Amino acid sequence: MNKETIMETKVAGVPSRKRLVYFERWADPIAEEILNRESDIELVRLSLSDAPDKIWEALAGAHGYQWPRPPYRGSEDLIARSPKLLAMASQGSGCDVMDFPACNDAGVMIVNQAGLGGREAVASHAFAMMLGLSKQLIQSDRAMRRDRKWERLQFTGEDLTEQTVGIIGFGNIGTRTAELCRTAYRMTVLAYDPYLSAQEIESRGGHKVELDELLARSDFVSVHCPLTGDTRGMIGEREYRKMKPSAFFITTSRGGIHDEAALARVLTEGKLAGAGLDVWEEEPPPLDHPLLRFDNVVTSIHIAGVTRRAYRQCAEGAAVQWIDILRGKRPPRLVNPEVWPKYQQRYMRVMGQPLVA
Ligand code: NAD
Repeated sequence: MNKETIMETKVAGVPSRKRLVYFERWADPIAEEILNRESDIELVRLSLSDAPDKIWEALAGAHGYQWPRPPYRGSEDLIARSPKLLAMASQGSGCDVMDFPACNDAGVMIVNQAGLGGREAVASHAFAMMLGLSKQLIQSDRAMRRDRKWERLQFTGEDLTEQTVGIIGFGNIGTRTAELCRTAYRMTVLAYDPYLSAQEIESRGGHKVELDELLARSDFVSVHCPLTGDTRGMIGEREYRKMKPSAFFITTSRGGIHDEAALARVLTEGKLAGAGLDVWEEEPPPLDHPLLRFDNVVTSIHIAGVTRRAYRQCAEGAAVQWIDILRGKRPPRLVNPEVWPKYQQRYMRVMGQPLVA
């Protein structure tokens, strides 16, 4: 990297340019267009194939870090090596590559793009999986290409009309998925979300229930909560066995929340009708992954949130949010609001001036 371009000139202790580091590309080039118009923001593009020394040098002077990528996760070590860092942002909603306790300790904000394009794109994907599975679209497509040993009635589907969907995590995407189910097919919506009151869930069009009740009553269980210490392993053998044998399990949230080996066991025993899986413990899953052997498992490669519209909205929202952060304002999509008092101190130390009121 050209040292002159990354050197900060200081006026009265205040850095004149704030450095924002990212790897490879934004979700859409609109982000670079917006940020390049701001003369007080220095955009530093890195490549994951760059020498580690170059990457760490850039991060050491970074005020912002867009979309932390392995192996440069938002870890305690990275925060210690980035003394000027004010915030890290995810590309979409999920912030599981960032260490929340370490950020809270150090006073570093975590922000995301929840509620922007991903809401529509991921909800549509979950809904498409529900339709595809219950109408046996993928199952019959596979059979058609393979042999002629089937009979049409083998692929008798189910209508979604007036069935029950159980949504785990009733935030932006969960609520939109529920809305699609309710408005298109008059489905009953059950929701499990320990952070929302019954009243709040009702106002979003669902009925609050405990997890076991949701599993037992739903024809489709769709996971939409983040991957956290609490949700890792939340859906295991016990939970699958609580579901009806005619029910489908769908996840577009994150690998690690559901137990893949247990799901394969339960499907082998015919205790579930099928599954729709966009996210995996290891991405992409190996070709010999047991879940890839089932015709009644519909898979995708973590593309639920990948639509042109969603990516443009997320990139635009991320860029505008970075301008707010780097100018000392409170960002609209702060995921760790408990950090705020410590963040104010950190901002003062790094920027030499208080936040904008
Ligand atoms: P959101 O923050 O709006 O909603 C998440 C909801 O989960 C919140 O209401 C929260 O209270 C709830 N929650 C938290 N812990 C829970 C728990 N233990 N049990 C049940 N609910 C819990 O986020 P969102 O925009 O709706 O996104 C949800 C998730 O979708 C993201 O965290 C991300 O992992 C995933 N996602 C995937 C893709 C993809 O391409 N597959 C794209 C975008 C987002």
